[in-house]
Amino acid sequence: MYDVVRVECEVTCPECGNREWVTMEPDHSPYVLVCDQCLNTTAPTNGECCMFCAYGTSQCLPRQKAIRVLQEQSEQLEISIQAAA
Ligand SMILES: [Zn+2]
Ligand SMILES: [Zn+2]
Repeated sequence: MYDVVRVECEVTCPECGNREWVTMEPDHSPYVLVCDQCLNTTAPTNGECCMFCAYGTSQCLPRQKAIRVLQEQSEQLEISIQAAA
């Protein structure tokens, strides 16, 4: 089901710049980034839903899935518009 989405995400600590690879869960994303190096905990400040979206190289799986659903819906909408024309 998640074959085309990325399940590994590289997150960067905003405090010390340390990068680490974190495996993403399909239905749960940690909100707070806990850095292994400086041991700071950092919560997203810009309204992002989790630390992957805020500090990672890719967005979290629930969000990637939501984006895919939106894309599929808009494609279906285009098809129905073309069929109606
Ligand atoms: Zn750090
Ligand atoms: Zn997220």
